[in-house]
Amino acid sequence: MTVTSPKGAPRDLVPFPLLAGQKALVTGANSGIGRATAVAMGRAGADVVVNYVSGREEAERVVGEITSFGVRAMAHEADVSDEDQVVAMVDRMVGEFGTIDILVANAGLQRDAPFTEMTLAQWRKVLDVNLTGQFLCAREATKEFLRRGVVPEVSRAAGKIICMSSVHQVIPWAGHVNYASSKGGVQMMMETLAQELAPRGIRVNAIAPGAIRTPINRDAWDSPEARADLLKLIPYDRVGDPEDIAHAAVGLASDLMDYVVGTTLFVDGGMTLFPGFATGG
Ligand code: NAD
Repeated sequence: MTVTSPKGAPRDLVPFPLLAGQKALVTGANSGIGRATAVAMGRAGADVVVNYVSGREEAERVVGEITSFGVRAMAHEADVSDEDQVVAMVDRMVGEFGTIDILVANAGLQRDAPFTEMTLAQWRKVLDVNLTGQFLCAREATKEFLRRGVVPEVSRAAGKIICMSSVHQVIPWAGHVNYASSKGGVQMMMETLAQELAPRGIRVNAIAPGAIRTPINRDAWDSPEARADLLKLIPYDRVGDPEDIAHAAVGLASDLMDYVVGTTLFVDGGMTLFPGFATGG
């Protein structure tokens, strides 16, 4: 079947590997979801920049894993909440890889506290990294997408941005007002950017992970008791793995999903299905 569209060239088939020839930047890519996503993008044929803020050795291990697939990868240290460092990171990527096709704005953290004990520093840190960090990375990537435009033999879109959100963009979370607010902000930022940039051929979407086994939430899955409590919230009855998110990111970034614009893909084993109502209500 031939697909025709004003965006990019008609294409008979989506190429395999799915991301062959594309250049991806994954932030916070030396741990958890970012790490799995960077590796999956490399496996899918992309050259990958592995951003990290600390933990260089781990970042270099991720680079080694990615280059074993025969693609290019490099580690780059930058704090995503620092404007100058983000500008320098994208500049270096464009200098060394030629361009950027995919941004996975993944870096994030938690600084939890009951509301009246939450400090301004805790509030600001989470908003700075989780929301402002995504804004800065998206802005710098978009400048390059617009400069370069569509390259039909690479992708039908001029660029793809995937914002790592959370089920907490819709589920309120007591004791985590900074984190939930940051992810609510990510949702509206993503949708606004999608609306603004779609006419320029740029697809902006988000992934909202549920409970994924990574260092950020070790307390929630590390002991049998905690895991049993957590599973009560997950209809699919398993804690997610980083690869569950990584595979969704590869799909969203690929031309297989070229018509997906401004959507949040919930990858949560059904956590947002109000599991308490399965037996009550
Ligand atoms: P993680 O702690 O394993 O990874 C977070 C990464 O972000 C780390 O590499 C960390 O160094 C990096 N980071 C933190 N601050 C940074 C900064 N200023 N600049 C650059 N990098 C920075 O946790 P994870 O679970 O892999 O989290 C990844 C993303 O997924 C986050 O945005 C998180 O909110 C989101 N998420 C995770 C879950 C889950 O269950 N694990 C659920 C929903 C959403």
